[in-house]
Amino acid sequence: MTNAESAKPRTDFVREIVAEDTRTGKWEGRVVTRFPPEPNGYLHIGHASSICLNFGIAAEFGGVCHLRFDDTNPVKEEDEYVQAIREDVKWLGFDWGENEFYASDYFDQLYEWAKQLVRDGKAYVDDQSADDIRRTRGTLKEPGTESPWRNRAPEENLDLLERMKNGEFPDGSRVLRAKIDMASPNLNMRDPVMYRILHANHHRTGDTWRIYPMYDFAHGQSDSIERVTHSVCTLEFEDHRPLYEWFCDSLGIYRPQQIEFARRNTTHTVTSKRKLLDLVRENRVDGWDDPRMPTIGGLRRRGFTPEAIRAFCDRIGIAKRGNTVEFALLEHCVREHLNAVAPRRMAVLRPLKVTISNWPKGRTVEVEGVNNPEDESAGTRMIPFSGSLWIERDDFMEDPPKKFFRLAPGREARLRYGYFIRCDEVVKNDAGEVVELICTYDPETKGGSAPDGRKVKATLHWVSADHAVATEVRHYEPLFAVENPNKVAEGGDWRDNLAPDSLEVLSPCYAEPELATAMPGERFQFERLGYYCVDTRMSKPGAPVFNRTVTLRDEWAKQQRKNG
Ligand code: ATP
Ligand code: MG
Repeated sequence: MTNAESAKPRTDFVREIVAEDTRTGKWEGRVVTRFPPEPNGYLHIGHASSICLNFGIAAEFGGVCHLRFDDTNPVKEEDEYVQAIREDVKWLGFDWGENEFYASDYFDQLYEWAKQLVRDGKAYVDDQSADDIRRTRGTLKEPGTESPWRNRAPEENLDLLERMKNGEFPDGSRVLRAKIDMASPNLNMRDPVMYRILHANHHRTGDTWRIYPMYDFAHGQSDSIERVTHSVCTLEFEDHRPLYEWFCDSLGIYRPQQIEFARRNTTHTVTSKRKLLDLVRENRVDGWDDPRMPTIGGLRRRGFTPEAIRAFCDRIGIAKRGNTVEFALLEHCVREHLNAVAPRRMAVLRPLKVTISNWPKGRTVEVEGVNNPEDESAGTRMIPFSGSLWIERDDFMEDPPKKFFRLAPGREARLRYGYFIRCDEVVKNDAGEVVELICTYDPETKGGSAPDGRKVKATLHWVSADHAVATEVRHYEPLFAVENPNKVAEGGDWRDNLAPDSLEVLSPCYAEPELATAMPGERFQFERLGYYCVDTRMSKPGAPVFNRTVTLRDEWAKQQRKNG
């Protein structure tokens, strides 16, 4: 993003509401938002939009943003997810300070409120099965049917609720329902379930509870307890808003304002946590932070920066109605950031040996390389040059077509920061494959130009074979080649859309000796190739493994230019 762009004040319909409320003093000047993940999976690029929005608003309006774990379903939730979510939000650059909360911390209060609604005749214990409840709920056209247990006396309801809580009844045998309106045009208002029986241990409350509140009975009250002002959520909760308000109002408690925005989707990506979990469980990827995953952990391991992800979220903004954003835009954002900050290095990924026949035996010289042409303060480094080098196999063709300007028999090319070399001889193995080039160098061309003014068309990257560090480099293609992996043919499955070859492992590759000490997570531009990041799991001291973050080709920018 250019400076002019990033300096533009952000605005969107949610910020406009907050600005207006601040102006009118609706919340006495307070701004409290929250990011409420359910700890049943890792955060992904869609969550990043919500995080940037909620923490962004808090920062811009002098408020606070809470991190609240919506941990009401013990069956799917784990502490591993809680820890990963905390790490990811922090890594994205946001700080919730002391405001870390858990819906499970409110279980006692929620239970008291449930009893209050029972006493007020606004909730009842229903002995129907889940199936019956579903069946009697009616449809969009037909009203629902009232449960035979709907008019139980409050005392009986209180007694049954207490016994549900104490674990006297099996899972699924009873639920607590709100008594609202079985004929409501909004299905969420047709006596929604508040509590279900679950003999399951919770990652924080252990076996204290044998009943657990439903999302709808926990979320609004959690917001209320924390005195949230603007409860920003995604559109699927629009139809739940009347219920959110009904619970707060029926209980007579503080009621925040719920505002919905459209989920952000990116092309070539699934963001359903269930699908991501399937990919992990079925070993289709190497865990939640596989560099191909759209999770924050995956993007981090791939080499994306928090700055790039935030720039992406800023740029796509938020909207009231849904749309899908090009994944290429996220790649564009990371290129922009890494172009400014990533040190340049040379690495040869598909090596071809070059021997310089007129180079004095055993001699090494050092040539000076610019670390970052975009940032003078990054300085320079010395790179060893010897008579034995690796160049990229692609940079040589024995029988080059017209438009190929790199190395070929009898032809000269420039080695970056080094000399001109000319290919004199091609060495082949028994299979007829080129295995080595015998070249001569021109000592007069140190620094990259010839005193006689002769020109070469190509500049190649290279490394000295005697000094290089051998590495493994991993290239990734999208997990899903199709734009919308959720679209499946009839009778098909979204897994059918998985691309067969999304990982390519290159080894051995050879890199500048400096890179031997690159630290896990460090990012570089490999000249002419792309941006690369030292893998945090597979690298060993002195033997880094590199993940390609992105190539240098900016498909998004190209498309923008084409579209004018
Ligand atoms: P689930 O389907 O399991 O509920 P979820 O994606 O809604 O998954 P949550 O943990 O409930 O996951 O999400 C936390 C917050 O992030 C919610 O406020 C949710 O609305 C928001 N969020 C989730 N996915 C996106 C998305 N693709 N774009 C924007 N916000 C999102
Ligand atoms: Mg959700």
